[in-house]
Amino acid sequence: MTTDELRDAYLDFFVSKGCVRRPSDVLVPNDSTVLFTPAGMNQFKREFMGLGDPAFTRATTCQKCLRTGDIDNVGKTAFHETFFEMMGNFSFGDYFKREAIHWAWEFLIQVLKLDPERLTITVYLDDDEAYDIWRKEVKVPANRISRLGEDDNFWPAGAPTHGPNGVCGPCSEIFYHGNGPKEVEIWNLVFTQFNRIGPGELEPLPKKNIDTGMGLERAAACLQGVPTVFATDIFKPIVAAVAQQLGVDYVADGPNGTRIRRMADHARALTFCIHENVKPSNEKQGSVLRRLLRRAVIDAYQMGQREPFLHELPTVVAEVMGRPYPELKESVPRIRNVIREEEDQFLRTLDNGLKRLDDLFRKTKAAGSDTIGGKEVFDLHQTYGIWVDITESLATEHNLRIDRAGFDKSMEAHGEISRPMKGAAAVFATGPLDTLKSSYHHGSEFLGYTTTEADGKV
Ligand code: ATP
Ligand code: MG
Ligand code: MG
Ligand code: MG
Repeated sequence: MTTDELRDAYLDFFVSKGCVRRPSDVLVPNDSTVLFTPAGMNQFKREFMGLGDPAFTRATTCQKCLRTGDIDNVGKTAFHETFFEMMGNFSFGDYFKREAIHWAWEFLIQVLKLDPERLTITVYLDDDEAYDIWRKEVKVPANRISRLGEDDNFWPAGAPTHGPNGVCGPCSEIFYHGNGPKEVEIWNLVFTQFNRIGPGELEPLPKKNIDTGMGLERAAACLQGVPTVFATDIFKPIVAAVAQQLGVDYVADGPNGTRIRRMADHARALTFCIHENVKPSNEKQGSVLRRLLRRAVIDAYQMGQREPFLHELPTVVAEVMGRPYPELKESVPRIRNVIREEEDQFLRTLDNGLKRLDDLFRKTKAAGSDTIGGKEVFDLHQTYGIWVDITESLATEHNLRIDRAGFDKSMEAHGEISRPMKGAAAVFATGPLDTLKSSYHHGSEFLGYTTTEADGKV
């Protein structure tokens, strides 16, 4: 089954269960609590709070998502991307656990024809209801169901003890065990059934919701029997195009495997973001874009590439993803120009910056230290445009650390605010915190449900 067929199969299946098919929301939503849409449920915040159109109680989508918290994993793990598509089915006070679980299984086994012996399930420790549905009704053997704690199987993670207050609930995750990678989480079913009013104090909600998310490319990899998302039909041509641009062969476990996968991922993310008019800058979404672009340029540079190349990739992305997103094609010339300009500019300073960085690595090691000074990191940032996150991840490749606190001090001294981009809720929580009704963490991403009481906007 191709990835395009899988996307259709999922949406058709849930339409047959009474869900209304809704389009993907944009990647950069009109929502001050997130930089990018991190999950399918984001466009339904109103509905989950009981503020939506009451006639509209079931939905299904395939949502364009971007998770900055996963940037450092991309290309290293088999199944993390920055930009990815999340298929979801949602109930707003309508169907609940029984249907969500039965339908998930029916879709996996009857429609996708996955081997049930390759699937395992997790449920929350005391969620006997979910356990019993999986065990007694779906008849999953007991040795393939595990009960995990609030950090794994509660949403937001850890909610019962470490908050935050607000709508929350246990979840149940489905893992696939393939021949290549040991296991991959393919689907998360979240049962939002409580309102947390204090530590350990969970009140049942009058109207219970279902929020599920299934990674499209992960599921496609399982179906296609390939070891990573990068080897699926929707990703492979982009990976091949990167290798072709650089004049090398792509060898998945070769020394440049991670770099090539990362460049392919970043090219997809850049294409979709710039399509939505985000431009590389030092602010918010633009700064993420700049980081993705520079990382890709550095990866290529380290493989000997001295000419701009990244701008050639949006054409391939738009082609491969043309069926679900035909609108991309029209934007390609504009996307190419934006990338080309930034690439040119960055390449001009890169050479000296990387030499300086190598120097620093050498000197640090020679001095018997494992930490690069904050002032030096700041200098690289300021003079050569090599951002702290990039310096940090390059340092890690040399088993070195950076003095982050020292860097922050230098930034402050120069009137700049450092914005760490790794899973820092603060980056995403730029909304009016005093009106925060309940804030959510989903994976490493902040998903604030904010309600501004004054204007009733969510
Ligand atoms: P993981 O533990 O693998 O990081 P997660 O628990 O953070 O995944 P969820 O927040 O539960 O993921 O998101 C729902 C589904 O979306 C996951 O089960 C997975 O299939 C998919 N998904 C999440 N993050 C990514 C990613 N970075 N790239 C591709 N698919 C993803
Ligand atoms: Mg997980
Ligand atoms: Mg999960
Ligand atoms: Mg995650």
